[in-house]
Amino acid sequence: MADNYDVIIIGSGPGGYIAAIRSAQLGFKTAIVEREHLAGICSNWGCIPTKALLRSAEIFHYAEHAKSYGLKLEGTITPDLRGIVDRSRGIAQRMNNGVGFLMKKNKVDVIWGEAKITKPGEIVVGKSSKKPMEPQGPIPKGTKGEGTYTAKHIVIATGARPRALPGIEPDGKLIWTYFEAMVPQEMPKSLLVMGSGAIGIEFASFYRTMGVDVTVVEIMPQIMPVEDTEISTWAKKQLEKQGMKILLETKVTKVEKGANSVTATIEGKDGKTQTITADRMISAVGVQCNTENLGLETIGVKVDRGAVVIDEFCRTNVPGIYAIGDVAGPPMLAHKAEHEAVICMEKIAGLHVHPMDKLKIPGCTYCSPQVASVGLTEAKAKEQGKDIRVGRFQFVANGKAVALGEDQGLVKTIFDKKTGQLLGAHMVGAEVTELIQGFVVAMNLETTEEELMHTIFPHPTLSETMKESVLDAYGRVLNA
Ligand SMILES: Cc1cc2nc3c(=O)[nH]c(=O)nc-3n(C[C@H](O)[C@H](O)[C@H](O)COP(=O)(O)OP(=O)(O)OC[C@H]3O[C@@H](n4cnc5c(N)ncnc54)[C@H](O)[C@@H]3O)c2cc1C
Repeated sequence: MADNYDVIIIGSGPGGYIAAIRSAQLGFKTAIVEREHLAGICSNWGCIPTKALLRSAEIFHYAEHAKSYGLKLEGTITPDLRGIVDRSRGIAQRMNNGVGFLMKKNKVDVIWGEAKITKPGEIVVGKSSKKPMEPQGPIPKGTKGEGTYTAKHIVIATGARPRALPGIEPDGKLIWTYFEAMVPQEMPKSLLVMGSGAIGIEFASFYRTMGVDVTVVEIMPQIMPVEDTEISTWAKKQLEKQGMKILLETKVTKVEKGANSVTATIEGKDGKTQTITADRMISAVGVQCNTENLGLETIGVKVDRGAVVIDEFCRTNVPGIYAIGDVAGPPMLAHKAEHEAVICMEKIAGLHVHPMDKLKIPGCTYCSPQVASVGLTEAKAKEQGKDIRVGRFQFVANGKAVALGEDQGLVKTIFDKKTGQLLGAHMVGAEVTELIQGFVVAMNLETTEEELMHTIFPHPTLSETMKESVLDAYGRVLNA
């Protein structure tokens, strides 16, 4: 007899494990299936371990610049790569353990293995095609195993994996994906990063701060192509000041591997080619949804451009089957996955649910300086025919930024000229990934310029740049 549940979730990343917790909270008998690592890519190989690496880089940078803060650090400060990587892996392990604890606490059964949907309401869990990966170690105790399981509702939360360009496939040795870039055995002297989305730029920033000669090749006319052009241009200048080389409107057409280096042929917009030789290369050209071997074709779940097609409540075209997170398409972000998880479960429970508004999903890149945004870029707002007002404020005129020694940054706000509605906010500078949430709340409440101007921001904080940017949009800036 198959074990029977109300809800089974396939995949335990931020989408899957949050869905499992909310499902249990709503009184459903819940199980989650995982084939490789509890907590998914985000905690094991994505959001969290990269931030741990970047934190080490940041501390290293401050130590190197201690003198400018009036501090004498004697001797040379050298990064200990083993120590940096071990710290990052230890933090990933802690997150992973945390999800195991949360599953127990919420009485969610963990089923270890690879799930396939055999028909609506039924999955078969087979042996995993993956080894339980470090830092997961051995399969966690108390998990169920291979077999047939049934559930009224099946949620697909299988995430995504690195995308590879034909002919430039990562080999894990010379051409890395984010997996290898996260755990370097030794520091390369030079590094070529193909792709300047958040993942590419974060690794480029980490390695550059560590003293590596980094070249970024981006096919689009700006780095972090989804960001506002002005913010992207600002960030590019700062990264270049740190010694990063950035080539725009350029593509890698061929890579030849040597004994301990790669030579990439790159082609500019004008068709001219040149070669770059580097010790290692990171392929950061996006991710591809994990939709294979799930039985989707057999049961007729629609997939479009690689992603499972869902409606605004995460329902697929097959009743009783849902999809959330990366597998359901962009933006490929952990907080989008988590939010979809809650929407999905609450809709199943029959609660009144607001559908996902993709325009209000913030995006953050944790390079140095950080970049964060929400809503429409200036170009998108204009493309949509909106009559807009734009405000700008630079960190250089903010006391806290100057005191921190972080006076390079810009906050840009975009308002609807007629209604005063905040349409978008874009930031580059120290800690902007923490600040952006203020604008996300504002947008969610459909705030206008009036309300923002009436809001008191504490002094001295970097957040004052947000208010000044709003004031600037209305010709009332105070500190510039
Ligand atoms: C280097 C890097 C940095 C990132 N940084 C950020 C960041 O700062 N902020 C942010 O928001 N996002 C970031 N992301 C993206 C973020 O990690 C993903 O958006 C997020 O993990 C998606 O969550 P998910 O639950 O959809 O899938 P995942 O986290 O990918 O989890 C899916 C899980 O499903 C399991 N699985 C797959 N198929 C099966 C099967 N058949 N049976 C059983 N289990 C299965 C997998 O093993 C995996 O554990 C980063 C990603 C990377 C790679």
